[in-house]
Amino acid sequence: MKVRYTFRFYPSTRQKRALGKTFGCVRYVYNRALRLRKDSFSRDKTRVTYCQTSAALTKWKQEPGCSWLREPSCVPLQQCLRHLQTAYRNFFEKRSDYPRFKSKHGEQSAEFTRRAFGWDGSQRSLSLAKIGRLRIRWSRQFASEPSTVTITKDCAGRYFASLCLDETVAALPATGLGVGIDLGINRLATLSNGERIANARHLEGRLGKLARLQRVLARRTRGSGRWKRQRQRVARLHARIADSRRDHLAKLTTDLVRRFDVLCIEDLDVRGLMGRRRLARSISDVGFSEFRRMLTYKCSWYGRQLRLVDRFFPSSRRCSKCGHVIEDLPLSLRTWTCPGCAACHDRDENAARNLLAAGHAVTARGGRARPRATTVARGGARRNVNQPALP
Ligand SMILES: [Zn+2]
Repeated sequence: MKVRYTFRFYPSTRQKRALGKTFGCVRYVYNRALRLRKDSFSRDKTRVTYCQTSAALTKWKQEPGCSWLREPSCVPLQQCLRHLQTAYRNFFEKRSDYPRFKSKHGEQSAEFTRRAFGWDGSQRSLSLAKIGRLRIRWSRQFASEPSTVTITKDCAGRYFASLCLDETVAALPATGLGVGIDLGINRLATLSNGERIANARHLEGRLGKLARLQRVLARRTRGSGRWKRQRQRVARLHARIADSRRDHLAKLTTDLVRRFDVLCIEDLDVRGLMGRRRLARSISDVGFSEFRRMLTYKCSWYGRQLRLVDRFFPSSRRCSKCGHVIEDLPLSLRTWTCPGCAACHDRDENAARNLLAAGHAVTARGGRARPRATTVARGGARRNVNQPALP
């Protein structure tokens, strides 16, 4: 099974300089290739292929003003053209937006394939072409040999090496239990068995400090030395918040995967919700998409089933006892009483129960399977049993 482990490393001054050059060249090649593809399409509607960009790269390296392109290893430059190709394919297959130019600000990365790094398993030594041996903090064990290594530098100036490995992950023993998980804003998650998991509100807690740092940043002259140092402080605090949030989510998802065989969540349209500004910060704070991403790969690692329930399924508005669907349920209403059976519901717990029922319903009907997760057909458990199931 392909897994990706990320380790922090501490480059020497010389390595920092060499990596900086590599990131710069990767960015330049990626952006120039994107420009080439964009221009050629807007000029005469022709599509530039990966092979053509690869041939162009060879030419760019020969240009008199671009001799610096020959300094770093050629592998990351080649890899970024492959990434651009993937970005285009994702765009054409409607999985993502149109590829964007890489910015000098923000996270930088470069990918090395097997022929551009050396690996010694007995010594645990990783060295990159033209960079040298990395001082890595090996925070976990693994048995196999890495197939690719991606080096990133985040906004807070930290360096990470992400290793793609082929590991055998043993499935966890079956527990015979299923759970519906309702992700919320006031609390991170509510389970169908009534358990409540609070948000790790790191952003809320540290908001005052962040606001203070950002106010100071706004007073600095853009581009000055003091502005740069202040921007680093803001970035470092952001990084710390993101780290603790990720840690909270990682622990929660591992706990869920250990305890349950079948996990049902709502296929939330995070992008749609992010558009509503008032909710935006809370949602990004809670990290819905990160939660789902972690749950997805952990389920596939440990042999669990993740069921995504259609986002149009009225999980909040439907009574989990009698199936009555009420017309409107404002977000502010946390508890409600069913007019059909007079049951009193906690909004989130009721939704989680519905999700579990909808997730189970799909196996009963032999629901459609997708490679990474199962999606309950539109309409979910609400569908009449006499109606044929969707393909
Ligand atoms: Zn009811």
